[in-house]
Amino acid sequence: MMFKSLKNTIQSLEKNEISIKELSQEYIKNIKEKSTLNIFIHFDEQKILNQVEILEKDKSKKKLKGIPLAIKDLFCTKDMPTTAASKILENFKPSYESFVTQKLLDCGAIFVGKTNLDEFAMGSATDTSYFGNTINPLSKDGEPLAPGGSSGGSAAAVAANLCLGATGTDTGGSIRQPASFCGVVGIKPTYGLCSRWGIAAFASSLDQAGVFTNNTEDASILLESIAGFDERDSTSANIEIPNYFKNLNHDVVGKTIGIPKEYTIDGTPEEISRIWEEAIKVLEKNGAKIKNISLPHTKYALPTYYIIAPAEASSNLARYDGVKYGYRSSEIDSLDEMYENTRGQGFGKEVKRRILIGTYVLSAGYYDAYYLKAQKVRKLIANDFNEAFKECDLIVTPTAPSSAFPLNQEQDDPIKMYLNDVFTVPASLAGLPGISIPFGKDKNNLPLGIQILGKHFDEQQVFNTALSLEKSYE
Ligand code: GLN
Repeated sequence: MMFKSLKNTIQSLEKNEISIKELSQEYIKNIKEKSTLNIFIHFDEQKILNQVEILEKDKSKKKLKGIPLAIKDLFCTKDMPTTAASKILENFKPSYESFVTQKLLDCGAIFVGKTNLDEFAMGSATDTSYFGNTINPLSKDGEPLAPGGSSGGSAAAVAANLCLGATGTDTGGSIRQPASFCGVVGIKPTYGLCSRWGIAAFASSLDQAGVFTNNTEDASILLESIAGFDERDSTSANIEIPNYFKNLNHDVVGKTIGIPKEYTIDGTPEEISRIWEEAIKVLEKNGAKIKNISLPHTKYALPTYYIIAPAEASSNLARYDGVKYGYRSSEIDSLDEMYENTRGQGFGKEVKRRILIGTYVLSAGYYDAYYLKAQKVRKLIANDFNEAFKECDLIVTPTAPSSAFPLNQEQDDPIKMYLNDVFTVPASLAGLPGISIPFGKDKNNLPLGIQILGKHFDEQQVFNTALSLEKSYE
């Protein structure tokens, strides 16, 4: 049995062609078979079967009833531990459910487990996790590849057919880049579309929940299931959530697609430029108008992001001090020592680096030169998009500057790792929705991704354009 479409599986469940239990057992089997990929931080077969039992007795009609989903281990879940892939939260058992996971449970989803990620979502390869690397399921023998990050476990779980969809979070590219590396669809919606309540915070002005699936239709179904207003997140948008799936339409006739010239950067492999051109041609053939646009401040996006994100992280992570929850060092003779040893032993190298950078850019004397300036540049980057969207409806770019790279390749060079985010961070800084869909392969037959960006809260057109490309690619 091989299921790849969440939509079709819902239909099969509704028609009783398969039972919830049979479906779950199939995925339990797959997860066990692929355990060496280290995709899950938490997997407990009995917990899955308990959920099945409850759902099978439930006679109410639920949209996702019985669909197996994987949850990034950054979302608080009541019945499963939540670690953020950090030693400091190794034994953390939240007493509440995040907004997003609660919505999925209300829809009747089954959680097959909590997926691996970069520690506190800081990284691009799922290699800063306290629980070890995740291996990209598309790796060939002898050369394990990175699944991308930070939501690498979730992207890999979908790619390896260990679930029919997964949640992720994206602060600077953490849904789109792993989707591209693993050959699946990943959408980061507009900042504010999904509540951040119950998601361990990294950089609060950028963090946004989203989903991974095997195709665009499924992504539209899952996104409408997790979106919505929540007064516990003051940045959550109080808007009517469209029925993305029902309104899906692959017709792009008359739409104007912007192609930003600044996304042509030195050193980008020829194959990436080639698939970008191909995607543009396909959209033109499907009836869209193509327009060259300029986003002049793009070159400042990476340095801006790598000031703002660590600044917010240093503030958000101050709460992990060994007092209220999480790890506490046992070597303590004084209060200061408790803080120092707890944080020194509890956080990994990359998280410490971000805390140090963040503390530095926020400190008196450097605040104006770094943090304040970065905020001003952020505004300029957002304005670029506002101007561009006067001339076009959507923007199409590559998702990442490479395909999946070998594990550990960039680990010792943080700057090289940060360069992975070059195409994804501008939209994050502007709070715009972006999807990555698989489009084309590189010379080693590894998937490449195309990113489609839309106006604020215009996820519908982002999905529609993705569908147009996807249909022409199949
Ligand atoms: N790779 C980026 C970083 O390390 C983005 C991470 C994310 O989106 N969570 O910050």
